[in-house]
Order: sequence, then C-alpha cells, then structure tokens
Amino acid sequence: METQQHFRPTKAIIDLQAIQQNVRNLKELLQPNVQVIAVVKANAYGHGDVAVAKAALEAGATMLAVATPDEALHIRAHFEEPDILVLGASPVSFAPYAAQQRIILTTFAREWLQQVSTLITNIVNPLRLHIKVDSGMGRIGVRTEEQLLDLYHTIQLTDNVELDGIFTHFATADEEDTQYFDSQVQCFEKLISVLPEKPRLVHASNTATSLVKDAHLQFDAVRYGISMYGLSPSSYVEEILPFPLNPAFSLESELVHVKHLKVGESVGYGATFVAPIDMWIGTIPVGYADGVIRKLAGQEVIIGGQRTPIVGRICMDQCMVALPKAYAIGEKVTLIGRQGQEVISMNEWAAKLETINYEVPCIITARVPRIYI
Ligand SMILES: *Cc1c(COP(=O)(O)O)cnc(C)c1O
Repeated sequence: METQQHFRPTKAIIDLQAIQQNVRNLKELLQPNVQVIAVVKANAYGHGDVAVAKAALEAGATMLAVATPDEALHIRAHFEEPDILVLGASPVSFAPYAAQQRIILTTFAREWLQQVSTLITNIVNPLRLHIKVDSGMGRIGVRTEEQLLDLYHTIQLTDNVELDGIFTHFATADEEDTQYFDSQVQCFEKLISVLPEKPRLVHASNTATSLVKDAHLQFDAVRYGISMYGLSPSSYVEEILPFPLNPAFSLESELVHVKHLKVGESVGYGATFVAPIDMWIGTIPVGYADGVIRKLAGQEVIIGGQRTPIVGRICMDQCMVALPKAYAIGEKVTLIGRQGQEVISMNEWAAKLETINYEVPCIITARVPRIYI
C-alpha cells in the first residue's frame, strides 16, 4: 500500500468502506456455502490491489483472482493465506513459481500441461489447477467434451498437479436478451456433467450473472469484480439492481492558478478555446499523463459545488477550466465523485469516452496516488 508522501494535490480517493459494504451486500445474495472470489486484477480495476484485497477479505471474500502471474505474485507478497487464482493463461515457465507460492493456475490445453510437468518434478506443494471451459466467450478454454476429458485425464496422470476447480465466463450476462447466455449455461452444465469427479470449486458467475440470473448458477463460488467497486456492469443491470452499489473511487485536485481572461484571449495548445466574454479561468494540475485523456476536453468538473467545463485542449500534466467567479488557489476540484449536491459518475466519463465504466478507473495512471479512507 502507498506510504509515500505526495505533494501534488491530484489524488484518487478510494473509499474502502464502500467496497466492504458492496461485498457484504453481494454476499447476502448468495446461497449458504457459496464462496466469494474478489477479482482484483489490473490493480483492482485501478483502485489498488493490496488495499482492496484486504478490504474484500475482511468483508467475507475467501479467495482472490487476478489476470496475470505478476499480479498474483504481487498479491502473494502481501497476503500469505488466501487462495489466489490466475484467470488468464500463464506461461509454462511460471508453473514452478506458482506451485511454490501456492498460486492456482488456469489450464485449458494438454500441451501446456505436458510442458509444465517437466518443470515441476521437484516441487513440494502440488500445483493446483482450474480448468477453463470456453462455453461461448471465444477467449480461452476447452470447447468440447473430448478436449475436457483429455485434459482431465492428463491431469490425473501427471505427478505434482491437482485439479482444484473448473470454470467458465459468460459473454452476455449483462444483457436483457438471455438466448446466448442460456446456450452458454447449457454448454457448461453439459461439460461438467461428464467429469468422473467434480473438483472442489465449480464457478461461472461474474457480477452480472450473480446480480440478475438464477441462483443455481452460483455453483460453489462467484467472481465479483465491478460490483465490488460500486459500479454496474451495464445500464440494463443498473436498472434492476437488487440494492444500490456504492462507488468507491473519486478523483480530486485543486486549483493551482486563477486568472482573468478578456474576450478574444485564448487557452491551451492550438489556442482552440477563445474566451467568448471576459471570464475567469482556473488551472488544475492533472492531464493526459494521469489518464485524463484529451478526449475528455469539454467534460465538466465540480468546483464550489457547481459544474463547470474543462476548456481548451488537455495538456500532459495540466488542464484549464472555466470558472463562474474568481476562486482562491487551493479550491477543491472534483473530477469524479460527489461534491455538494453534484455527482460526476464513472458512467458519465464512460459515455463521454464512448466506452464502459470498467475502463475509466483502469486508465487513471499510476502517477495519481491512491489515498485510502
Ligand atoms: C474480470 C473477470 C471477472 C469479473 O467480472 P465483473 O464483471 O467485473 O464482475 C470474472 N471472471 C473473469 C474470468 C474475469 O476475467
């Protein structure tokens, strides 16, 4: 977790209590004995992996999931106990490290396993594996009964590996139309039914599945990502949420300069903004190198409880805003989050950026310190 001092006033404020409340509310939806896997990949969707993992574990998660080997090692360096699953493909060379660090890997190809087996002849703990089923996402995973049984039997015949789980991922769980979703469910259920013995953890649900689909799809565990952070996976799910989600991420800065512009004077690279009347302009120390990318030009921020737009082009480290009056240096600026009666949501940024809310906290770069409250 961050311990360094920060002197620039631009910071991401992460509300860990909001994350814990979200996890507790999500847990209420689960059948008894269904485990919560907290998905903390990509630095916990930009919120900070170690702090979020700690908060999620305290609120009832029993396992952590990441996308890459490096992310798993980073988590393991801070948490000795909990199971950590790497959801994506891992290189063969990582297998001995995974076994040693008790990191669970995802497998979906016999060739990978055969290569791994040659590297783990001398390990102490067995390497634990979850088989990935591609039931329709078209990303990674076994697709047929034949491939599944072949992989299953190869695992049984390989020394020092242990089958711990099997899982799949849905492509359309956040949409109203259930046809494709239902076909994926059918495919996954058919494939797990052919296994001679079911492993410890069968899992399939992401946020959207667990919030809006049938409870039997919880199987033994659910993988919560976006909802933990207080965001909805889609506008469809947002409309039918069983409880409100609490967003955990705010982006804040301060005015570092305030000046008066005469009509006709301009602001920023390209001199693209020209004052239409005499007006006040403020400068905030945040720019595209922080993830406030140039496409956000024109996006509103909140100052003094009022919305006001970014004017001109966004620079690498700074940008300018129109001010309704001459605010003092040090006046707080909220780029994402609540100030007074106003709120700027991740969804608002996502719409402006023509993307999904998932992408917004991920693009706020490491230069912006994450401060935990
Ligand atoms: C990212 C991811 C999740 C989490 O999905 P959310 O929609 O954020 O809940 C779950 N499972 C897999 C395989 C993932 O890659």
